[in-house]
Amino acid sequence: MPFFLTSHGKSYPINTPIWCSESGELLDIQGEFKLPIHLLANRPPTLWRYREVIPISADAVPVSMGEGFTPLLPLKLAGHRMWVKQEQLFPTGSYKDRGATVLMTQAKYMRVRSLVQDSSGNAGCAIAAYAALAGIDCRIFLPADTAEAKIVQMCAANARIERVEGNREDTAAAAFKAAQTYYYASHCWNPFFLHGTKTFAYEICEQMNWQSPDAVVVPAGNGTLVLGAWLAFNELYAQGVIPKIPKIIGIQAAQCAPLVEAYKSCLPRHNLTVNNGTLAEGIAIADPLRGSEMLAAVRASGGEFLAVSEKEIVESFRLVAAQGFYIEPTSAATIAGAIAYMNKTTDTGRVVTLFSGHGLKSGDKILKMLANRT
Ligand SMILES: *Cc1c(COP(=O)(O)O)cnc(C)c1O
Repeated sequence: MPFFLTSHGKSYPINTPIWCSESGELLDIQGEFKLPIHLLANRPPTLWRYREVIPISADAVPVSMGEGFTPLLPLKLAGHRMWVKQEQLFPTGSYKDRGATVLMTQAKYMRVRSLVQDSSGNAGCAIAAYAALAGIDCRIFLPADTAEAKIVQMCAANARIERVEGNREDTAAAAFKAAQTYYYASHCWNPFFLHGTKTFAYEICEQMNWQSPDAVVVPAGNGTLVLGAWLAFNELYAQGVIPKIPKIIGIQAAQCAPLVEAYKSCLPRHNLTVNNGTLAEGIAIADPLRGSEMLAAVRASGGEFLAVSEKEIVESFRLVAAQGFYIEPTSAATIAGAIAYMNKTTDTGRVVTLFSGHGLKSGDKILKMLANRT
């Protein structure tokens, strides 16, 4: 039976609606994960095909919209061949559905009636949608300047919206306070979310016939994919399913890059940084809650953190759009990072990256970005 564990070794039973320890420490989920590979061929192409490694009781019924098992396409961008996972194709338009389907399944299993979440975008959309499907009352705290299309999407799912004046940190503080009373479905705090995002890496390995890629280039905001991928690769490696753990390359916007700076200075944790404003708003996290975990994971994988400029983000968006794919500006930052990584590294081997979110929610921003052509 899996259980919650803090970094100080305190444990809690898994089926309790908590999201941190009594003293406010982060929780991780500890368990034994064994994937019955021989059974996978007959299962539907959703992320729930990895049911045995998702730490939720076997009698829980998934709160699912048939999400996951997104295509892994070979693309050539800026002269480099890379594999690009189509994570913009999720029901709510971003890979955050991976975390939301798992977290809401657990919440429903524990008979949670109402929850709070805070997000400036896609995590809120995903939690709102899956909470609606689960029949759970949902309140989302948002910074006052959140993109209108995303608010509309949350409202459509009947979420109650609480706009908070100030920055992203003020919003988190307001939600944190409300979480004294309600279940906190935070994609940063709640470790069930990471056991959903880890299916991203399970899928990559299965789609590559259980050969590890050499590097996986992912966004590094709050780190749900960095840490989810790290969990998955370790679980698969420990079971002898994959031959090695790929390098994890975390991408930040140069305008808000606390982890790139800490990585370069060989620090175990980041210093407080300011968000100087970037097109990649979805990864502009000045003070990532799990920052030290992200630094440790990327280093242990042999990977690195890279920063991309606003110019590189726009150029990558154009390259991708010129092949017909329509992605969020935030997603273009990760592609810019994959290109930068392949430009500076000799013999990269097989590189996998992703389109993290759909362009359809960001039309206004994309219009502005393209109008500013220089
Ligand atoms: C959330 C998000 C990211 C960044 O992910 P983190 O978990 O914050 O590191 C990147 N792209 C899109 C489209 C997102 O929604």
